[in-house]
This record gives sequence, structure tokens and C-alpha cells, in this order.
Amino acid sequence: MISVHSIETFGTHEGPGIRLVVFLQGCNFRCVYCHNPDTQPLEGGKEMTSEEILALLEKQEPYFKETGGLTVSGGESLLQRYALIDLFTKAKKKRFNTTLDTNGSILDEDSKKLLEVTDLVLLDVKHIDPVWHQKVTGAANNVVLEFAGYLESINKSMWLRYVLVPGYTDQKDSLEKWGKHFKDFKNIKRVEILPFHKYGFYKWKELGMKNPLENTPVPTKEEIQEAFDIFKKYFKEVYIR
Ligand code: SF4
Repeated sequence: MISVHSIETFGTHEGPGIRLVVFLQGCNFRCVYCHNPDTQPLEGGKEMTSEEILALLEKQEPYFKETGGLTVSGGESLLQRYALIDLFTKAKKKRFNTTLDTNGSILDEDSKKLLEVTDLVLLDVKHIDPVWHQKVTGAANNVVLEFAGYLESINKSMWLRYVLVPGYTDQKDSLEKWGKHFKDFKNIKRVEILPFHKYGFYKWKELGMKNPLENTPVPTKEEIQEAFDIFKKYFKEVYIR
């Protein structure tokens, strides 16, 4: 059984083409900028079987064309890696593209098995500096970096993502370090900058959670451009989302 938070039937941001995006319930990070804090608790999801999700995929198949397919996102998808091995194996048998959106925080045998049936990984590396990573997510980044290294070692296609938050993730020296760390990875197909936004703020309120970024401004066009220019020194394909 897979614990699902919600499903988007015509997603265009979580991977290539038009996609069925399955957002899972439960996350092991506590990012200060989380725009889906309601996905964080492990409880409260809707239990679904692989077959139920595959039925939705098959319904949507005519829209996928060459590039679309299935994306599993969070919460944190790796928390349910064992169930996802089954889902992705069955999806691949039916020739659907499988994409995993993850924070890269668990690297064990089941994660590796899941990656064998994953076509593309969307990996958020939320800060290169361990102390800042801890402040931003509540967790260490050593496994995330190991996870990225493992993806490179098996030549697994990935899109690297970075949420740009003024005062938290926009330190120029860290952006440079981030770029230098990944610049020689041959498996990176693109880098995406996700400027922090406030669309999910109402959820923090509804949940009665204190929002640490309540008074943080969204990045200006100039700040976004600066981050773009730094990443562009290291990667060919950089996009602002
Ligand atoms: S990893 Fe994603 S879902 Fe989890 S807390 Fe961070 S932003 Fe929210």
C-alpha cells in the first residue's frame, strides 16, 4: 500500500512532458520553506495500491506522448521506497516513464533497487553547507550528497533543484560551492532554480504551525538572476521555474 497525500493529473513541473504526479504522505525533513507542510506527518494519507495508481496512468496515457509519464513526489518519496519498487516495476513493464522527486536522504538497498526502475530523479540539494542545510531542513546533508554521488556512479539521469530563499540559501559562496561540487557530474540533465514563494503560507496557518519565513521576502528578479549567473558558470542547462 502507498500512502498518498494527493494526485495531480496533468502536472507539467515535476519532470518532462505531461505527468501524473502522485504526492506521498510523510516527510523526514522540516524545511523552513515547505509549501506543503500538510504532507509532513506520516499519518493521514489515503492508502492506494499500485494497481489503482496504474489505472489512473493508463487513463491518462494518450496525453503523455513521448516524454510524459509518472512522477512520485513528496512529502518524501523514499520513505515509501519499498512500495514504490512495486509501483515503478509495474509502470515500467507498461512502458511508462518513471520519475522520482526526492530529497535524497536515504541510501540503502531498497533505495538502490528503486533507482533500478527509475528513469529520472529530481533531486533537491537544499544547501551545500552542512550547518545551513541543518538550519534549512532540520537534517544533515551528508547522505544527500552521497545519494547524488551514487546517482552519478550508476549514470542515472537527474535534474538538480535548488530553492532560492533570501537569507537562507542565497549566500554567494555557497552557490559557488554548490556549482563546483556538481559541475563534473555527467548525469545532470538540467539544473532548476526554484525561487521561494508564499503560495503555501495559508497551509501553515491552517495547521497552526509557526512559519519561520513569515517575514522573509521572496527573492527579487536581480537576486534570482545572480543565482542563475553563478550556476550558469558550471552547468549548460539552467532554468528558473
Ligand atoms: S523535503 Fe519537501 S515536503 Fe519535506 S519538508 Fe522539505 S519541502 Fe516539505
